[in-house]
Amino acid sequence: MQDTVCCGCSVVCDDVAVTTKKATLQSLGLCKLGHEYCNSIFSKTRLTQPLLKSNSGKQKPVTISSAIQKSARLLRESQKPLIFGWSNSTTEAIQLGLKLAQVTKGVFDSTASFEYGALFDAKLHGGETGQVNLDDVRDSADHIVYWGVNPAESHHRHASRFTVFPKGKDIPEGRESRVVSVIDIRETESMRLANHQLILAPNSGDVEFLQALIAELEGTQDHLPEKVGGVPTIEFLSFAKQLRDADNVALFYGNGLVHSTHAAQTLPFLAKLSKLLNRGNHRCWTLPMVAYCNTIGSVKTSVATTKLPFSVDFISKGVKAVESIQTSITDSEFDSVLIAGWDALSFLPGPLAKALSSLPSIALSTHPTLTTDKATVVFPVALTGMETTGTVYRMDGTPVQLQPFAKAPKGVPTEEKLLSQLINGVISS
Ligand code: SF4
Repeated sequence: MQDTVCCGCSVVCDDVAVTTKKATLQSLGLCKLGHEYCNSIFSKTRLTQPLLKSNSGKQKPVTISSAIQKSARLLRESQKPLIFGWSNSTTEAIQLGLKLAQVTKGVFDSTASFEYGALFDAKLHGGETGQVNLDDVRDSADHIVYWGVNPAESHHRHASRFTVFPKGKDIPEGRESRVVSVIDIRETESMRLANHQLILAPNSGDVEFLQALIAELEGTQDHLPEKVGGVPTIEFLSFAKQLRDADNVALFYGNGLVHSTHAAQTLPFLAKLSKLLNRGNHRCWTLPMVAYCNTIGSVKTSVATTKLPFSVDFISKGVKAVESIQTSITDSEFDSVLIAGWDALSFLPGPLAKALSSLPSIALSTHPTLTTDKATVVFPVALTGMETTGTVYRMDGTPVQLQPFAKAPKGVPTEEKLLSQLINGVISS
């Protein structure tokens, strides 16, 4: 067995091992998602050759040098290319993505602007009390809250490694020493783990619930209806009491809260709740449950290079922030797009996907996707983590060095190598 690091989700498990024999993978420690992710090195649908769209609209295999030439010309002749994706790329590749945006005077943007954008406005991008990481949570958090996220389906080992089950320095009994609360608008698999299973009314249930919670903690509540945001009042009061009594609350929030139609109201309330719970020796840590293995790395790398977290417009003298990347896309401000490691056309809402699919595009991908199907140029690339070295940042901002266990198919470059060649192509042509 060989130690490796799984890049199947933002938990970035570095305590796993694999062995490969006759095109099968055996693993130790990987969850089902992680096993599927690592096993994809053997996928029969793997991309292994660059493809170029011909005049007839069909994609045909070409050499890597002619694909680079074509892509370099496309980017150089663009007035405003969008250099997009990045949350499944290594930090080293992201640095080159920023460089490519700079040399083409384009816009750099990552999935973080969609996963994470609203949190920046609400100043809720993790660790309200300063630095906190998942090891602190494992060691000291005695009340775990999952809000609008279902880690039993999206981040399988989050609970077993860090939040619910493990023993920690101040958590001698593991699960028995913690209170676990799961809040969502429907029953979820994660609720099986929970002491408090709080099902909110869809639409404004989260706003009502947060407002009442804040009033309860402030001691300004004068009247409670039978239900609070859809939750029976008796359950609401029991949850509020255990939240107030906890020494260290770790609150993980996901798309259900960040992307609800009421996010503009809920996120400032969440920030206020966190502040209220941080009093005296009591702590409340808030962390977003981002999806991809290096969403946090894309933000960190962009901030380190440009001081902006995402949506960076490289203008002649320096950079400026793009106000709304979504509006820029739908208003056709871009005339080409390069998408690295993300099936943007499958994940983005219809109008954005439609606008992007009408542009000349370059896709860097390991497997065929809707995004590669529509691309003008497709580059096969090595799988992050399994076939590449480099660094990614776990969801709590901890850097993790990758430990590849396989070689990419012959002729398939890493994103890093490919982007270096592309940058040289743009500069020299
Ligand atoms: S929890 Fe995520 S990182 Fe860990 S093994 Fe599963 S997919 Fe991989």
